[in-house]
Amino acid sequence: MRTIVATRAYLVDIPVEQVRTDAVQAFLKQETVFVEIDSDDGLTGTGYSYTIGTGGRSVLALLRETLLPRLEGRDARCVEALWADLHASTRATSVGAITSLALAAVDTALWDLRCRAAGEPLWRVAGGYRSRVPLYDTEGGWLQLSTEDLVAGAKATVDAGWPGVKMKVGKPGVAEDLARLSAVREVVGPHVDLMVDANQSFTPAEARRRAAAFAPLDLAWFEEPVPADDVAGHARLAASTTIPVAVGESLYSVGQFREYLERGAASIVQVDAARIGGITPWLKVAHLAEAFDVVVCPHFLMELHVSLVAAVPNGRYVEHIPQLRALTRTELAVEDGHAVAPEEPGLGIDWDRDAVDDRRVA
Ligand code: MG
Repeated sequence: MRTIVATRAYLVDIPVEQVRTDAVQAFLKQETVFVEIDSDDGLTGTGYSYTIGTGGRSVLALLRETLLPRLEGRDARCVEALWADLHASTRATSVGAITSLALAAVDTALWDLRCRAAGEPLWRVAGGYRSRVPLYDTEGGWLQLSTEDLVAGAKATVDAGWPGVKMKVGKPGVAEDLARLSAVREVVGPHVDLMVDANQSFTPAEARRRAAAFAPLDLAWFEEPVPADDVAGHARLAASTTIPVAVGESLYSVGQFREYLERGAASIVQVDAARIGGITPWLKVAHLAEAFDVVVCPHFLMELHVSLVAAVPNGRYVEHIPQLRALTRTELAVEDGHAVAPEEPGLGIDWDRDAVDDRRVA
């Protein structure tokens, strides 16, 4: 028994490291919700979750009022039982984004505790497939950037030896998207993966039209082409184009992924450990995808996802969007275009406790 003796939750705001816009939204600030769980053997697990600008205080309220009071006295080792109990206690608000984000903050704290108790890093405790994983860049591909900036950013990334770059699409005209993409393909050459992300902005008809226009550029994937709740639209698109269709950052349960996979609507899953409710359901989605011979390229959270992609055999890529540098003492390690999974026991995120305290807002 490893008894939970105390829990805490709090909210920290981090300004965006650079302007980031896509076809439907801007990243306003990172609301980072922390959970700490103390056990009777003197260990503390630290977990976190996030929003890109709204709802953070709702996540915090759900944690403080409903979820954390259920943990005291329970065995921290029984992560599945705790996850199931907390999920059952929120039936009135699940499946839902706020609930999943709150569950994730607890679940990642429990996994941090589990790994610290084992003296092992997350990537090995969660599966242990390999210690480093390919990294692709999103930070140089935002929609507000000029073609000149896109080309310069992609060139720098490829010159550094990284294997992939992603660009936002969703300019009003097909020709503008195509011109920007063509300029980047020309500078990166044929051997680098080039991905596009529409952030759910197209109708199914427009998505098919753009996919046909983009296809000669040999894209590695077309991400969130249409609204995430239109599984049939994704399935039709996937059947009509040679470009792999990627989805997952806007899905909040294992069951939603099951439907996409059963219907052949996702060629790549981008399950996000915060939005799915933590590491426990993240691994279920990754293993489910493996059964469908589908790879996992998670959304955002590179500091956490590096260890999860490293844990599973069908992990393909980690997404480069640095956003935790204000709260951490060391950065994600990168070698030869690969992100290196931390070897420290726990999640492997080197929190700067003073910086976290300084930015705390609730
Ligand atoms: Mg995306």
